[in-house]
Amino acid sequence: MASAFNIHPAIEAGVKPAAPGFAGGKLYCKCPTDRVEVTIGAQSAHNHACGCSKCWKPAGALFSQVAVVPRDKLAVTAQGQKLRVVDETAAIQRYACRGCGVHMYGRIENKAHPFYGLDFVHTELSDRAGWSPPEFAAFVSSIIETGTDPGVMPAVRARLRELGLEPYDCLSPPLMDAIATHVAKSRAQA
Ligand SMILES: [Zn+2]
Ligand SMILES: [Zn+2]
Repeated sequence: MASAFNIHPAIEAGVKPAAPGFAGGKLYCKCPTDRVEVTIGAQSAHNHACGCSKCWKPAGALFSQVAVVPRDKLAVTAQGQKLRVVDETAAIQRYACRGCGVHMYGRIENKAHPFYGLDFVHTELSDRAGWSPPEFAAFVSSIIETGTDPGVMPAVRARLRELGLEPYDCLSPPLMDAIATHVAKSRAQA
């Protein structure tokens, strides 16, 4: 069914299943030449649509598509000098290309953060298929903060469900549980 909005071009095009044995690939920025290249040596995990105001979204998309990979499996392999951190004060340091603005990866430097050790990536920047597909939609209500009409939210949530992505206004219950478990464990150690 066609809709008046674009959840995300890669998701609207049809979510494809992960390829068995898929072990990573390269991500490229959108500059016409001298592209920033990031090489990932692992399958992605926890891929999802994200409505927060910080994640990079392709032009016209209401959501970003974002997954995690182990930070020791990610390397900048070309044109790294074009990268800059978008917001030094954010928990996730998002490295964007100065040329095209695409975010190539996000990294957490705070070792106490629940997701320390994982880098955030947009797998649609890869020329390979087989990455783990998006499983849910996070921070759905946040798209209102960046200009979406609150009146279209029921239609946005219905479209996400139609695409197989359960909409949540924070992260998914398993990830919220993982964060709370981390908090409980760090309190027990204190
Ligand atoms: Zn670029
Ligand atoms: Zn986000």
